[in-house]
Amino acid sequence: MTAPAAVITNPEEIAALVRESCHRGRTVGFVPTMGALHEGHASLAEAAAAECDDVAASIFVNPTQFGPHEDFARYPRALDADRRLLAARGVRWIFAPDVAAIYPPGHATRIVVDGPALPFEGALRPGHFSGVATVVQRLFAFVPAQRAYFGQKDWQQTLVVRRMVADLALPVTIVVRPTIREPDGLALSSRNAYLSAAERRRATGLSAALAAAARDWAAGAPVADIEGTMRRIIDDHGIAVDYAAVVERESLAPLADPAAPAVALVAGRLGTTRLIDNQLLDGRAGAA
Ligand code: AMP
Repeated sequence: MTAPAAVITNPEEIAALVRESCHRGRTVGFVPTMGALHEGHASLAEAAAAECDDVAASIFVNPTQFGPHEDFARYPRALDADRRLLAARGVRWIFAPDVAAIYPPGHATRIVVDGPALPFEGALRPGHFSGVATVVQRLFAFVPAQRAYFGQKDWQQTLVVRRMVADLALPVTIVVRPTIREPDGLALSSRNAYLSAAERRRATGLSAALAAAARDWAAGAPVADIEGTMRRIIDDHGIAVDYAAVVERESLAPLADPAAPAVALVAGRLGTTRLIDNQLLDGRAGAA
């Protein structure tokens, strides 16, 4: 039997537990999440448990990272199942604050990151990355772990968090772990639960587009052709394309050197569900 993970709602209480562990010379790992957990989140907890002495995870559906017409109200919530999953993967403490604990009345400070937060998700979801940066900084203050674990699934988010950690000199190491996928390629996401059976079948268009991008990139295809192919595949699956781009991996700027390490980024909508995915592309020789 796995010991049940303690659920802590009070920021001062989790901060004291983590600090005490650090003072005893233990390494603490932290996995921030919005709950409705799946094997992607579980892989982050497992990596943290393998590399750290104690693991804390947070479950907080952060209102400030949702736009006014987005899915905050219907975002799935499943604390009991989440608690079991995290305990089984070696998580000791689950920080599950309510909104007032993170944003007390009168709170008036937000963090705004430029650079990697500006294009793609930043352009399509105004205020989203400011909400992410603001909550992640507060979570890091309440859970002062040495290492924090994020998924490559949200590649742009990892760049924004890394930028903020560097710019604010926060004492935490950011670890990025690979995307966990369904057998047919669909990246696991809490939002996959919104998909109808028909939409779920068509949702493979995103990962299929990325697989084609990886193949064509390695074969030396021009970036514009790769982007066109991705767009066509996504469109053929009945997904409304928000973007399908190959850009510089760290800055997300257009590729000045078509052989440099890159990332393919895709986003699209199936009905009312919006999904994103990405694929890292290694530097290649002799591309046009
Ligand atoms: P979320 O609960 O969606 O905010 O995600 C919490 C963390 O889990 C983020 O760092 C995500 O990038 C990560 N994550 C989400 N989906 C996956 C996945 N399929 N594979 C790996 N990590 C993931």
